[in-house]
Amino acid sequence: MGKLFLLYLDMEDDEAEGVYCCAKCKTHLSQSGEIISKSFQGYTGKAWLFNKVVNIYQGECENRNMTTGIHKVADIYCSNCQLNVGWKYIKTYEGSQKYKEGKYILEKRLVCELK
Ligand SMILES: [Zn+2]
Repeated sequence: MGKLFLLYLDMEDDEAEGVYCCAKCKTHLSQSGEIISKSFQGYTGKAWLFNKVVNIYQGECENRNMTTGIHKVADIYCSNCQLNVGWKYIKTYEGSQKYKEGKYILEKRLVCELK
């Protein structure tokens, strides 16, 4: 029987930093300091690009045609409740999109912010 180990992000580090949680089970996923951009579009509306996300697992990789071209992505799921909270950019095919590689999208409606 596997025990699930979840990380708890330290909110004491920087009083201005918010923590982003899974909207369903409140598992910590990332922090406002990890946000690269807030101007992304997800399946449910606004989405944010994060440098680092924890407590998730990755689904199958696939090439997906997005507004900015074809990207190889993998959906990411909350490791506690399996909610599909966004995706990870595995590979991009255009130089201008390279900065997204290895970064994560969290959909605004699927996460909640704790201050
Ligand atoms: Zn969850």
